[in-house]
Formats: sequence, structure tokens, C-alpha cells
Amino acid sequence: MSQVARAYEAVIGLEVHAQLLTRSKAFCSCSTAFGAPPNTHVCPTCIGLPGALPVLNGEAVAMAVRTALALGCTLRTPSRFARKNYFYPDLPKGYQISQFDEPFSERGHLDIEIAPANAAEKSDAPRAMKRIGITRVHMEEDAGKNLHDRGDSSIVDLNRSGVPLVEIVGEPDLRSGHEAAEYLRTLRDILVFLGVNDGNLEEGSFRCDANVSIRPVGETKLGTRAELKNINSFRFVEKAINFEIERQEAVLSSGGRVVQETRGWDENKGTTFSMRSKEEAHDYRYFPDPDLPPLVLEDAFVERVKATMPELPRDKRARFVDEMKITPYAAHVLTQHPRVAAFFEEAATLHGDAVRVANFIQSEVLRDVTTHGLAAEIPVSATQIAALMGLVDSGKISGKQAKEVYAKMAKTDDAPETIVAALGMQQVTDVGAIEAICKRIVDANPKQAEALRGGKTALMGFFVGQVMKETKGSASPAVVNDALKKLLGT
Ligand code: ADP
Ligand code: MG
Ligand code: ZN
Repeated sequence: MSQVARAYEAVIGLEVHAQLLTRSKAFCSCSTAFGAPPNTHVCPTCIGLPGALPVLNGEAVAMAVRTALALGCTLRTPSRFARKNYFYPDLPKGYQISQFDEPFSERGHLDIEIAPANAAEKSDAPRAMKRIGITRVHMEEDAGKNLHDRGDSSIVDLNRSGVPLVEIVGEPDLRSGHEAAEYLRTLRDILVFLGVNDGNLEEGSFRCDANVSIRPVGETKLGTRAELKNINSFRFVEKAINFEIERQEAVLSSGGRVVQETRGWDENKGTTFSMRSKEEAHDYRYFPDPDLPPLVLEDAFVERVKATMPELPRDKRARFVDEMKITPYAAHVLTQHPRVAAFFEEAATLHGDAVRVANFIQSEVLRDVTTHGLAAEIPVSATQIAALMGLVDSGKISGKQAKEVYAKMAKTDDAPETIVAALGMQQVTDVGAIEAICKRIVDANPKQAEALRGGKTALMGFFVGQVMKETKGSASPAVVNDALKKLLGT
């Protein structure tokens, strides 16, 4: 990197909009289901007919409070809903109900882990922790959606209008595109584990605006920022921010000034582009919504929310490492999704050896798992995995055969015992038969046998391998080891 590039530091603050997973909308009883025909989940309230009154959805409040508590925010009660006024076809009321100067929560934090530079992906190396401030979490409603793919004209679909959102505003504590992507991943995982959001960037239920500025190293005042709008993947967030940092560095080092503006991300060109400048920025004329009373969070309500807080991803990872003795990397992989974590934990508990269950799930099962939002498709049950590994423990089948049985089980959903019987699969534990094979192998390899007897114990692996090859992996490793030890006098 050049001298110039090192003279500046980047400052990034993210605003995240996350859709709350309630069944009905924030202020009416219309369904929030995704993918229905346009304008079929609408009523006078969410299409903004004059005189229709909003009634706040208590479940949305519970989910919003759960989010704020998980982020260590302080709750404000009462808080207030405000009207954010602007004109756009997808907003028939002419205002969005949001919270402004009296949000229901503020001053929290999110701890992100930064992998050491050039650490391998699968590394168990301890990661540095960085705490990012959360300015506030507030509730608001979503707008509708303009659809431009319906023939000659565009239509407005108001199914999404009035769907409850939380906006999570972060402090400008992030210093690179990589940190920003890490913050978003961590936040997304927390919301998914909380069950309040499906974490789906492509469908727009988790959206991010990134504010990016740079300043000379050592400067404490914030520089002028550009706001990057609605980037719908973690990878693009990182790329867009890094591009924007370099763009601003080039502007400043050539003597120019960064202008405050909203910019978009062009995926194809890999560049950001100007959408509108500050002069065109909105003045939203916020004022308290006279149709909604102040929101009071009673102690009993907050206590109920606290009592239903699920275990968060980081706590789960720590517990898997401490109590179940799996590696930090394995814990990371197995806590990527709440359903996968629950599946692993159940199988490990049923079977008893968490490390082996973790290895088996990682090496065999995970490649067959697909997740979509909060749902996960896992082709086998925890009971089946525990039973399968039990067959290995009891010497019925070998570890190698277990993989074969798993592959069948993933397709047929049969019990492992059924598959083992159907395939005529039995681990060979007949001591006499195995001893005979071992003797043949030892006789066929006199040089190696002599070297092993002379102390080259590593050659044991060679003999075990030969026997396994001969028996196509069906010999019981324990019996093979015993037989070889006897023959080779080690
Ligand atoms: P708005 O974008 O609605 O005007 P704010 O001014 O409160 O709202 O800022 C929103 C976000 O922008 C926050 O996440 C904050 O951390 C971030 N931010 C504010 N100023 C800067 C800056 N100079 N550089 C980078 N991020 C900034
Ligand atoms: Mg903003
Ligand atoms: Zn409605």
C-alpha cells in the first residue's frame, strides 16, 4: 500500500433494518407472509385510508425488546412513535410510523471477533474481540414495494406495507469493510438465534445502509460521510465499503473534498455511484404520531421477555467448547444455524461422545444440510445419528461402513440397523478369520515385519492399512490391532 493510503483511517457506522417475524403486521391484523399475490394482505390501515387507526402489535414489541436486550441496550419507557413524512408511491399514507427522538432503547453494544490477519480459515487461534457501540434500536413499519417487472407499467404491492421492523443504528466504531461484514454476520446470527428475524439478505428481511468516511490518522473529528444504500450480501458490503474508502482517499489526496451524499453499489462494475447529494436530502418533518399513545414497557412484560431469551450464539459456542470439549472451530461450524446447533446437541447427548458426533456431523452430514431463514433441512434425525454411531461402538460396523450407511440413510430415512441388515453389512469380528488375514499380510511383507520388530513402530499403520484394504474396511480395528501385535511381537 502507498504512503498516502496509510495516512487515513476509515470510519464506518451501519444502520440495519430487520424484519420482525410476527405473523401479523405492526399496526393491523394483516398477514406478513412473504410471496403472496400483490395487494392481497392489505386493509384500510396498512394502505393508509383516511380515518383508519393503527393498533400496536404486542408480539412485535416483545421481539423488539428481545433484540434490544440481547444487544445490551437500556430500555426507555415510555417511548414514542413519530411520523416520518415523505412522498413515494410505496408509501400511501405519506408518512412512515417510526421512532425518532424517544426510541424505546439505546446505548448498547455488539462484540465482534476479528480473526488474526492471515490466520487459516479453520484456525482455532483465539480471535481478538472488538466492542462496537449500538446507538439505538427502535421500531418502525416497512413501506410497500414497487414492482417493475409486470409488463408495460409498474405496480405498487402493499403486502409489505406495515410489516414491523427494528432499526439498529451502530456507532461509527468500525474501521474496515472486513470489520463491517463481521459486525453484520454477528448481528444477523444473534437475530436468527433470537427467533426475531430470518436473516435473509436476498429477500430483504435484513437490510443494511453503510455510512463511510475517512479522516487523517490521529484526527478525532469525523470526516464527511457517504451513505451506501441497501447492499444485499455480506460480500458486497465488504467490497462496497473498501471501494468507497479508496475512492475517498483518492479524492482527498488529490486535494478534493468528499461530499455528503447517498451512493449505490454497482455489482457488475464493482464501484459505488452517486444517487443523491445532501442538497436533495429529505427533511422528514418528524412529529409525534397523534394516533398512537406513548409506548409503556411494564416491568412484568420486560421480565417475561427476559425469561424467554434463548442462548445466544457466542454463549453456545463457549459452552460447546467448555462442556462438550469440541474445538473452537467445530463449535463455530456447528453454531452457524440454531437448528444445526440443536441437532448436534441432541445427537451428542443421546450418544455420549460429543467429539465423535461433532466430527461425523461435520465430515458427513453438513454437506447435505440446507437452511432457509429459520428453517433447516437436515436429512437425518439426531436419533438416527446416535444409533448409527452406537453400531460403530458395539463393533457391528466399522467407521468406514458408518459413512456408507449414513449416505443411504440420508436418502431412505430408514433406521441404521435396517440398512446394515439390508446391505448384509457386518463388521468382521471373527478373530480366527482376521488372524488368518493378518498372518498372510505379515508373511507377504517380511522386510517391513523385521523393521517393525526392530523398533520402527510407525510401520504398524502400514500393516493395519493393508488388512483394512484386504477386508474392504469391514474388519474390526480392535481385533486387527490385537492380531497384528501378537504376530509381530510388539
Ligand atoms: P441519518 O443517517 O439518519 O442521518 P445519523 O446521522 O444518526 O442518521 O447516522 C446514522 C449512521 O451513520 C450511524 O450508524 C452512525 O454511526 C453513522 N455515521 C454518522 N456519521 C458518520 C461519519 N462521519 N462517518 C461514518 N459513519 C457515520
Ligand atoms: Mg442514515
Ligand atoms: Zn393491514
